[in-house]
Amino acid sequence: MNIAQIEDIGYRIGIPVPFPMKYVYCYLLKQDDGYVLIDVGLNYSKARETWEQVFEYLAINPKEIRTIYLTHFHPDHSGLAGWMQGLTGAKVYMHEIDAKMLERVWGKDSMQSIRMKEMVLNHGVPEKLSEEIMIHMDKLNNSVLPLPIVEIIGDKVEFSGLVWQVIHTPGHSEGHICFLQKEEQILIAGDTVLEKITPNISVWPGSSQKPLHEYIESLRMLKELPVKVAYSAHHTPITQFKQRIDEIILHHDERLDKIEKLAENKTAFEIAEVLFAHKSLNPHQWRFAIAETIAHLNYLEQEMRIEHEGTRPIIYKRKVNVQ
Ligand SMILES: [Zn+2]
Ligand SMILES: [Zn+2]
Repeated sequence: MNIAQIEDIGYRIGIPVPFPMKYVYCYLLKQDDGYVLIDVGLNYSKARETWEQVFEYLAINPKEIRTIYLTHFHPDHSGLAGWMQGLTGAKVYMHEIDAKMLERVWGKDSMQSIRMKEMVLNHGVPEKLSEEIMIHMDKLNNSVLPLPIVEIIGDKVEFSGLVWQVIHTPGHSEGHICFLQKEEQILIAGDTVLEKITPNISVWPGSSQKPLHEYIESLRMLKELPVKVAYSAHHTPITQFKQRIDEIILHHDERLDKIEKLAENKTAFEIAEVLFAHKSLNPHQWRFAIAETIAHLNYLEQEMRIEHEGTRPIIYKRKVNVQ
């Protein structure tokens, strides 16, 4: 089992995900009358079995979990929340924006996969691939249902005998939150800052159209905070927090330069084909590749470095400076 004790704070628990990063790290933390859980994982059998083993190993009755906080609405973090709420009877809290996205993307009247298909078609994705992207997204729904009953989180929460500030960090998702313990200088970072991989920054239908601007702003804000260690949701904890933030910002600067050069009468799909030429992508990965490319293109356009014309497909080109 992938369980590590964080001194005096609680447990860091790796719950398997069927994605390359292998685990989502959830945090089980002591609260006066029971436990708090931050993030829960994706709803599939391996994750559910792992939680049952964890509770047995730690000799915790699931009913002792009173509160669940979700850092953001992505399925690898929130997909099991409905199941976990049923098992524990806990209240589930998240940021208002992501609470709405959870419903919009995975709710029973969701049009998100159709909207996604429309979005990628507008950006030059061939019909067949757009269809596969839609089908794949619909399938993912099974790993998220049932949805929990969600309440909106406040500015401060208490667990491990300490007061934690809830910090809104839009970018990776528009309603993403982190938890800061100022005196101990600990951040529970969700997917905002990760070791080894850079968090995916994407444009999704119904969400912010300038996620990369918001993300860079969130990173700059986080860099000013006192953080000795950041416990993120994938990979190892981060001890060189400010340095890692600089690396991620540099990665995006380089990516932006590359995409600006590629934007010569091309669609987002054609640009993504060049960017990801070294990888063979499945429909799920293509969805991320396109959405991430669009996020960078939107950034460049807002910075007046490129412009676009047309609607279906949307064609990007470099801005000609008229002197
Ligand atoms: Zn995420
Ligand atoms: Zn994640």
